Amino acid sequence: MSVTGVSPVDRRSDGEGSERHSVPGFAYIRYETIDDGRIAVITLDRPKQHNAQTRGLLVELGAAFELAEADDAVRVVILRGAGPSFSAGHDLGSADDVRERSPGPDQHPTYQCNGGTFGGVESRNRQEWHFFFENTKRWRNLRKITIAQVHGTVLSAGLMLAWCCDLIVAGEDTVFADVVGTRLGMCGVEYFGHPWEFGPRKAKELLLTGDSIGAIEAHSLGMVSKVFSSAELSDHTIEFARRIAKVPTMPALLIKESVNQTVDAMGFSSALDACFKIHQLNHAHWAEITGGKLSYGTVENGLDDWRAAPEILPAAMRRP
Ligand code: ZN
Repeated sequence: MSVTGVSPVDRRSDGEGSERHSVPGFAYIRYETIDDGRIAVITLDRPKQHNAQTRGLLVELGAAFELAEADDAVRVVILRGAGPSFSAGHDLGSADDVRERSPGPDQHPTYQCNGGTFGGVESRNRQEWHFFFENTKRWRNLRKITIAQVHGTVLSAGLMLAWCCDLIVAGEDTVFADVVGTRLGMCGVEYFGHPWEFGPRKAKELLLTGDSIGAIEAHSLGMVSKVFSSAELSDHTIEFARRIAKVPTMPALLIKESVNQTVDAMGFSSALDACFKIHQLNHAHWAEITGGKLSYGTVENGLDDWRAAPEILPAAMRRP
């Protein structure tokens, strides 16, 4: 039995004598444990949409992290994505997104609470705080060691899911970019980790151009711990997790706490809070410009047309 009272249904071997236990009841993610429950594996499971984050997916992800946190057997949590990419960011307009936003019987219930009924800037501020910001901070402070296993594209809000983990392991094909500046006229995502992860100047460059960095550069920045081939990524991430799972739980958490409290003392959490409010100001600007229709900019404002999926260029040193 691996988690809080939920019966595992799907049991299969991973080839090393360790059974996988799956927890049912999720629509947009998968939750499994391996190694007698010592490692939890959460898989974002909207592969056709490149794991674009709907409200349903984010609420399920929160529940999955809570399952792992509540389970005293779990020492390490791996967060990964099914399909071609880890996550292409927030879902802006798939059928699932439209359905769960639109009033009616299929609306996601979280649009009717946490400020969702208030309207205007107040609604957006409260909803984004709960479902894009505070949840990400909570996952960053999870009482377990977390590893993001990323591959393919990690765009904008996809970065938030990688950054809130303690360690990041990347497939060699991984591309990291925040395109909301050039495509949506926004000053970055809600959880503004950019200067801390990329460095201040690189953060400005990447946000002002929408250009990307690859796995090797992310490794040289210290953002990524390991880079593996696509074929090796899953197995090697589990091997890495097994090494970390050997560390007794007390020092493991205290190591995490010491580092997190150090960067908090350097201003990390306060800066995140401040930048979330700046982000809300940016949304309010576009809402006013568009008469309340949209909370972001469009091609009419000189931005790239994100619906046409313009190519994301690498931030090459010799290309203007
Ligand atoms: Zn936002």
